Amino acid sequence: MAETNFIDYVKIYCRSGRGGRGSTHMHRAKYLPKGGPDGGNGGRGGHVILRANRNYWTLLHLRYDRHIQAEHGGNGSKNKSSGKQGANSYIEVPCGTAVYDAETGEYVCDVTEHEQEVILLRGGRGGLGNFNFATPTNKAPRYAQPGEPMQERSFILELKLLADVGLVGFPNAGKSTLVGAISSARPKIGNYPFTTLEPSLGIVSYRDSRSFVVADIPGIIEGASEGRGLGLRFLRHIERNSLLLFMVPADTDDIRHEYDVLLGELAKFNPDLLDKGRVLAITKCDLLAGDDELKDMLREGLPDDIPVVFISAVAQQGLQELKDVLWREMNSESNKIAAINTQESIIRSTKTFAYMSDIEDDDEGWGEEDALDDDEDIEYLDDEDIEYLDDDAIEDLEDFEYEDAPKS
Ligand code: GDP
Ligand code: MG
Repeated sequence: MAETNFIDYVKIYCRSGRGGRGSTHMHRAKYLPKGGPDGGNGGRGGHVILRANRNYWTLLHLRYDRHIQAEHGGNGSKNKSSGKQGANSYIEVPCGTAVYDAETGEYVCDVTEHEQEVILLRGGRGGLGNFNFATPTNKAPRYAQPGEPMQERSFILELKLLADVGLVGFPNAGKSTLVGAISSARPKIGNYPFTTLEPSLGIVSYRDSRSFVVADIPGIIEGASEGRGLGLRFLRHIERNSLLLFMVPADTDDIRHEYDVLLGELAKFNPDLLDKGRVLAITKCDLLAGDDELKDMLREGLPDDIPVVFISAVAQQGLQELKDVLWREMNSESNKIAAINTQESIIRSTKTFAYMSDIEDDDEGWGEEDALDDDEDIEYLDDEDIEYLDDDAIEDLEDFEYEDAPKS
């Protein structure tokens, strides 16, 4: 269950936009000495919104961009002009990401469906401009509402990493070397139950800032299907892996035979594994010294029902092609990633983040520089007396029921 999952997490600092101020402007014109109030409403501040995106597989991209802020709403101005609405800020995350409050560990929300959105922090609503408060008895109110303040909060995003590609090969096939050659990051593994051997996870950056996870799982073959060693526990992960990458070195006497033996080992453990998508990588192809005839000869004896890629992790050959093939197979119809049930792995209650203290804490938030600047000239109404405009209704003043101005 949860404790055998790989976990990727990141702490982020979020701030929504504050609402723009309502204006207290008085209309003036030569021929109209008492033009009356025409101060427009402030615009709503931007929300901070979490959005699930099936093209992301990890939280890696947020490690480099951990301050998320939405735009402030613009202030209202004369001629009843409304302030500009602050732009929302979107945090794109993989499906299956859960959000916890970074201070308390409290569960906040999770997203599981592609394009599902959750507002993490609401932008402040804009204040009403003075023209809203004109009444027969007070035709020229000099007050307007301030915008609502912004909100700040830090969150921990957590994703159960389900390896997308599991490496299957005998010792010395070149698995570890490959993970090192193609992956850009090694996520920490949370609640890791094993002490001696660790599965080595690698996050592979793919085109357009997408990424996927490869897992080099020690002991998968050596005695794994008999329940010996650690392999069995790890095989649980591979059961959910969407693809298996078989790896056989180019200098193996009988590549086909070795592939069949690997396949047989998996079948012994769980025949369902044979339904997994499969790719075969012939590793260490630098040993062939660019001999294309040799390659063609090798190719002839190989299985023709799965993609075969010739690679050398050491010489950096064929790695882009390998990533392309893996990505393609991972996303093919017959290999629906949606089959992964992300729901069950999300913990929906408050967590104690044992590892929270490990999380890099290079920044304490936003500081004071953005504190609301009070405008002395404006006579603010008591917040409680006035209903703010509904979130997005600022453009739509017709629908707004004017409040009576407070008696002065
Ligand atoms: P693993 O046991 O499957 O993880 O295999 P390793 O990645 O540890 O590699 C086993 C041995 O093969 C090491 O000595 C590596 O240096 C070597 N090796 C790995 N990849 C290549 C490669 O592309 N070319 C060559 N010539 N040797 C490699
Ligand atoms: Mg290894």
